[in-house]
Amino acid sequence: AEAELMRAQRFESLALLAGGLSHDLRNLLQPLLLAGESLQDYKDDPRLARLGALVRDCGRRGLQMVQSMLSFARGAQRAERIKLGALLEALQLLLQGSVPSTVDMQIHAVDAELIFEGNQTELQQSLLNLCLNALQAMPEGGRLTIDSAIVDLDADFFAVDEDAQPGRYLRITVADTGVGMDQATLDRLFEPFFTTKPDGTGLGLLSCKRIIDNHHGVMRAESQPGQGTRFHLYLPLEQPVEGAIEGESGTENLYGN
Ligand code: ADP
Repeated sequence: AEAELMRAQRFESLALLAGGLSHDLRNLLQPLLLAGESLQDYKDDPRLARLGALVRDCGRRGLQMVQSMLSFARGAQRAERIKLGALLEALQLLLQGSVPSTVDMQIHAVDAELIFEGNQTELQQSLLNLCLNALQAMPEGGRLTIDSAIVDLDADFFAVDEDAQPGRYLRITVADTGVGMDQATLDRLFEPFFTTKPDGTGLGLLSCKRIIDNHHGVMRAESQPGQGTRFHLYLPLEQPVEGAIEGESGTENLYGN
């Protein structure tokens, strides 16, 4: 319990630091992005226009990093009634422009009218994070699948340190056919600042997990090097839902080994 408390405190100081830092950084980056944008339209000097485009791209990337730090730093937001169909549509809109033609994206709602409790902005942000990671894992193209299902989770499913309850859950899965991960990477996924990317923040998955924790849900990752990766978000459903139900136990392994 003491170790748990220390971990929570460390987490909170990290969130505070990230919050402060990202506000300051955003104020620096926004004018830079604007300057880059106006320079890139400079017709009289192509060299200057190219530099402008470079400044704009760096500014954009910086702001994306800041955004992921900010969503990590923000605590639980207000709960609302979310319609699964609307959530997935919003995600599709956010992803537009980021999905290259070499990637085949498929989104499937188990029931577009399904309603559950949560914060839509936060969940959108989590899913977006997972999808952007998936796209980065497929530089040569592949398939990005966002699927959903309603599953019953029994007590065996949860790890001892997870305080989620057995019951009915909405499972949203983000799957890619990209580079995959070895066990060493899988073990460190949720460590703050753990990244294997030269320009990564190592905060994306941690912020995702934090959001799902706040929703009293759980998150699982499955991966095989060279085969691809699946992230599952499990969100508790308050009311029993009619429809196709899959049972699920702790030993499930979608890669069959
Ligand atoms: P970042 O994306 O900034 O590196 P994340 O916390 O989002 O930070 O991810 C941490 C690490 O997890 C990544 O650097 C990468 O090694 C690994 N990872 C995450 N998602 C995937 C994926 N879909 N395929 C392969 N590796 C992944």
